Amino acid sequence: MNTQVRATRTPKPVIDPSRPLDTLLEAEPVGEGKRGPALTIFLAGAECPYTCVFCDLWKYTTDGPTPEGMIPSQIEQGIQSLGPEVDPAMLRIKLYNASNFFESRAVPASDDAAIIELLAPYPAVTVENHPRLTNERCLSFGAKLDGRLEVAMGLETIAPHTLARLNKRTTLEDFDRAAESLIDHDIDVRAFVLLSPPFQAAAEAVEWSVRSVEHAFDGGARLVAINPVRAGNGFMDDLQAAGEWTPPSLAQVESALSGALHLERGIVVADLWEIERFRSCPECDDVRISNLRAMNDTQEPATRPSCARCDS
Ligand code: SF4
Ligand SMILES: [Zn+2]
Repeated sequence: MNTQVRATRTPKPVIDPSRPLDTLLEAEPVGEGKRGPALTIFLAGAECPYTCVFCDLWKYTTDGPTPEGMIPSQIEQGIQSLGPEVDPAMLRIKLYNASNFFESRAVPASDDAAIIELLAPYPAVTVENHPRLTNERCLSFGAKLDGRLEVAMGLETIAPHTLARLNKRTTLEDFDRAAESLIDHDIDVRAFVLLSPPFQAAAEAVEWSVRSVEHAFDGGARLVAINPVRAGNGFMDDLQAAGEWTPPSLAQVESALSGALHLERGIVVADLWEIERFRSCPECDDVRISNLRAMNDTQEPATRPSCARCDS
């Protein structure tokens, strides 16, 4: 499957591992109706070895392994981008490396000590990692960090036949086991859940997404992010052209987030990165996007607008 997925790729830009791809300072919900500052540093480094069929993160990775010293340097640069108005004692740092943080090709283990030192002033740190890489290195990193570590893992979907076909090479049991081990080691869990993955009927997408969010909370997740699957990685475009996959509509994103918030199990956000790509209706898209932003911020389900065009 890896070869089949990679064969559909278009050329990617050259990525420079000496500087972060980007930084984003935002206010994230932290529970009880409050929000707190979070700085995401998008790290440049080696590609993930898993090649999930829906993933387009390979576009933001280098061809070879990440050279030693580059990740600490990028983190330092990302932190330097902060203005003096941000209080470090309130800040969550999210290190997203378009791969898995505890895979040594992506983040050399020899850099861990320098990274831990750079992160010492911050109360909370999030990294992303594959459930099957919940290894000794991950647990020891969490133990050595001054602040709380949170590991973000892709649960993706609990639909068994769909998950098996995503080439993620993981199972629900892997996710559950990893979450349990992290929580046992006093490490928080953030989960990623897909909306409208391939090999799933469009009419069932919202329900599977909400049920997957519920499963993540059952496993102890502190926060769940719903990721609407987008075209653009080659493989998904081919599926779409063949009529075998339809990107989710904004109305479905809205329903999934609203349904997941109605569970009242914990913090749920929809990933609104590139949300403009999901526009399909000139009548209601603006309202839906502002509803999604409001739901992310307030954690209150919004009333969905009726739309003569979409509802007909
Ligand atoms: S494990 Fe994550 S980064 Fe790797 S291919 Fe899958 S979705 Fe992409
Ligand atoms: Zn509409």
